[in-house]
Parts: sequence; structure tokens; C-alpha cells
Amino acid sequence: MITLEDKSNCSGCSACASICPQKCIDMVQDSEGFFYPSVNAEKCVNCGLCTNVCPFINAHGESESVMSFAAKSKSKDVRLSSSSGGVFTHFAESVINNGGIVAGVEMSADMTCAKYALIDDLENIARLRGSKYIQAETLSVYSEIKTVLEAGKQVLFCGTPCHVNALKLFLKKDYENLICIDFICHGVPSVKLWKIYLQHIESRFGKTVSVSFRCKKQGWTNYGVNFVNNRGKQRYFPKQTDPYMQLFLKNYSLRPSCYECKAKKTRYSDITIADFWGIRNVLPDFEEEDGASLVIVHTKKGGDFYESVKSSLVSQTVDTNLALKKNSVYDTSVKKPKERDSFYCDVNNLSFDKLRKKYVKINLSSEVKRRIRLLLHK
Ligand SMILES: Cc1cc2nc3c(=O)[nH]c(=O)nc-3n(C[C@H](O)[C@H](O)[C@H](O)COP(=O)(O)OP(=O)(O)OC[C@H]3O[C@@H](n4cnc5c(N)ncnc54)[C@H](O)[C@@H]3O)c2cc1C
Repeated sequence: MITLEDKSNCSGCSACASICPQKCIDMVQDSEGFFYPSVNAEKCVNCGLCTNVCPFINAHGESESVMSFAAKSKSKDVRLSSSSGGVFTHFAESVINNGGIVAGVEMSADMTCAKYALIDDLENIARLRGSKYIQAETLSVYSEIKTVLEAGKQVLFCGTPCHVNALKLFLKKDYENLICIDFICHGVPSVKLWKIYLQHIESRFGKTVSVSFRCKKQGWTNYGVNFVNNRGKQRYFPKQTDPYMQLFLKNYSLRPSCYECKAKKTRYSDITIADFWGIRNVLPDFEEEDGASLVIVHTKKGGDFYESVKSSLVSQTVDTNLALKKNSVYDTSVKKPKERDSFYCDVNNLSFDKLRKKYVKINLSSEVKRRIRLLLHK
């Protein structure tokens, strides 16, 4: 077996495993819970397809930003159930109404992982809506998309910048009927850490049937994580006191490659979407209570697509540099905390409670409220 030496050089996109004609590359989970390619040297014929498709080796150049917009859905329901302004939902609607397919990320039915799925009807958009702060499994999404593109249908792919770059390299050619949307990406935690947290929650609250990482009960900027259990009971944790979110936002739980992301400089997407953090300073009159999206258009195809969807949105042109003032992770990676590696060692050795106490410093009054909430719900 040949495995990777420097883990920061692999985003785990699995394009190499998907393209291998010998099927001799497996994506294998490491002790942190991230997946990496492992090559069966006996079956490998050295065709080189895997290295040709790797976005870390082959993505070059800098993406352009043609135009940017502040945008939000005209529907309050869509805004409230989306992470930022809900623009993704309208992009998806447009493609489905055109007879096309949308590929995005949903939670698995048992809530233990996030994975890409293809949908072709409006009802299923809700499955893909909302950010899931876990690295998503790509499964066979690249080849499924290729099949749909070859059949002449329009495809909208929405995912992390590294997955968009991987898809483009996998396809090898520019399909006119493919729209790629990525987002400004903080980075992704491992599915292993998520499962440990989910078990911790379920040991107290019972089986989870749905989770929202961006619940807007207390507002868009003041979001939290909301769990619903199999008795229909809800448990809400503001992001300031939710340990999983704190580990994510404080950068402990990210994949090694996220601290040196190559896809941020070289975006192959047509459009990038994001939370429009700091919108009040840039567009004080834009009503943003339930969330506002930033839409950055990179290509003519992306611009034409955005124009075709714009009527379902409240949209205003904005200067890209000003819009990005409060969103530096657009083109820079977050800093790796010096305790990051010891954190993932501890994931394997400490209970979630001990992990939380060691790495998440929560202010005292928030902690008291959290404990009272836990006791009340026991
Ligand atoms: C892991 C992650 C980190 C992010 N970091 C930032 C950030 O630092 N700054 C910022 O401004 N915005 C960030 N975003 C993007 C932001 O949260 C919103 O997704 C974006 O603003 C679009 O919001 P929306 O309301 O239009 O649509 P939503 O309905 O909220 O967006 C849903 C889309 O996100 C995709 N998606 C959800 N989870 C994942 C996942 N795990 N992997 C791949 N695709 C996924 C779905 O496929 C769907 O297409 C991040 C999103 C994710 C998933």
C-alpha cells in the first residue's frame, strides 16, 4: 500500500479514487477521522490519471471576481432555514425548473455524516439547504454528474472550493451545461469528531432525527446548533456555548489541508457564495436581520446564471473588496493553533466532556446557563 506522506497536501476530495480505472485506490480513514487515498501498488498500472486529477497538484492560476452582490431570498421562510441569505435555494430552483439536476450536501438519515446527493425535484432542495460543519463524503458524485452532463441536462454543483476544483479536473473539459458554486470556506472538521459529539448529545437527549448547524432562533449573526430528537423535542445551543462549534470556530478541529488551502486562490467555480459578514458597514440600508448572502461572480456563465435568478432575490451590487473586509478566509487559510495536533490525539483518548474542558474556554455565566439547560432537559 502506498499512502500519503504530507497530509496537508490532500483535501480528501477522492477524485483520484473516482477516476482510477484499476479501482486500486481506497479512501482510508486516519486516526483523526479524515479520509486519505491508499494505493494498492500491486494493482496499480502507473497510468497517472490519479495525479492528473489531483487539485493540489494541478489547480493553477488565480480566479477573477467579475462582480459582487449583496443578496437575500424574498421569502422569509427560505432565509430562516438557510445559513445566510438563502441564495442557494433559488439557484437550485432555477436549475430544477429548467429540467436539470442539483448536487449538494445533505445529512445522512441517521445524522452521523454529511454526503453529496443529486436531486431533481423542488421538494428535495430542503435536504441540501444549510451548512453542515463536517467534511462531506463525495461517494460517486463526480461520475454521476458526468453522466448527467453527457445526457445534456443542466447541472448545478454546490460544494467546498476543493471539491469544485476536483470535479472540474475529473471532468477534464468545460461543460456549458455545468454551473459550479463554491463558498467562502472556513475549513472542515472530521466526521469522527462529529460522531463523538453526536453520541455525547444523544446520551443525554436521545436519538437525533435532525440537526441545524445554523439555527437562527436568536438571529443570523447570533446563530446556534439545534437538535431535534425522535420525540420531536428541540435542544438549542448558542454557538458561544456549543463545544463542537467552538472547536470549529477556534480552528482546532479542521483538516490539515484546510490550514494551507490551495483552492482558495485558484477557484474554478462560476460563483462563490458566503455570509455577508459586516454588511451593515458596507450597505447600511440593506435589511439583513434574517441573513444576507454575498455573491461573487467569477465567470460570464456565472454572471448570466445570476441574472436569470435575480428576480427571486433582493439584490444589490457591491464592491468586492469592501464586501470581503470582514471575511478574510475568502483567499487565506485560517491559522493552525499550536495545540491542534495534540487536540486530535486527545480526541482518541479523552471523553467529550474532558476534551471540552481542556480546549474550550467558555465564560462562566454561559457555562452556568448551559448546565442548567442540560439539567432541565435530563
Ligand atoms: C464547512 C463550511 C464552512 C463555511 N465557512 C464559511 C466562512 O468562513 N465564511 C462565510 O462567509 N461562509 C462560509 N460558509 C458558507 C455559508 O455558511 C453558506 O453556506 C453560504 O453563505 C450559502 O448560504 P445560503 O443561505 O445561500 O445557502 P445554504 O442553503 O445555507 O447553503 C447550502 C449549500 O451549502 C452546501 N453545503 C452544506 N454543507 C456542506 C459541506 N459540509 N460540504 C460541502 N458543501 C456543503 C450544500 O450543498 C448547499 O448547496 C461555509 C459553509 C460550510 C459548509
